Amino acid sequence: MMDVESVMCECCGLREDCTQHYISKVKANFAGKWLCGLCSEVVSDEVSRDRKLMTVEEALNAHLSFCDKFKANPAELVAEGMRQMLRRRSSGELLPAKSKMFGRSKF
Ligand SMILES: [Zn+2]
Repeated sequence: MMDVESVMCECCGLREDCTQHYISKVKANFAGKWLCGLCSEVVSDEVSRDRKLMTVEEALNAHLSFCDKFKANPAELVAEGMRQMLRRRSSGELLPAKSKMFGRSKF
């Protein structure tokens, strides 16, 4: 049996049910904070894009303040805003494989 826990995204406040193993894995990647799938995509995208210029914590803080702007709005708007951000970033430049850096699958 897997231990499943309800956990809340530090950025957008989305709740997800995750295994404790997965939760601690995500926290290890993001300076002790748990991020939902979408937010962790955005943050790791940010870091892998500017690996030499930006630490995970800096990317995290940037994303946190981005999310703060949307806090008053429904979660859908947050998700949509991030999707647009991702789309804008992915167009015209090749993104390095993010899974390599955060290596969620290798644990
Ligand atoms: Zn989130």
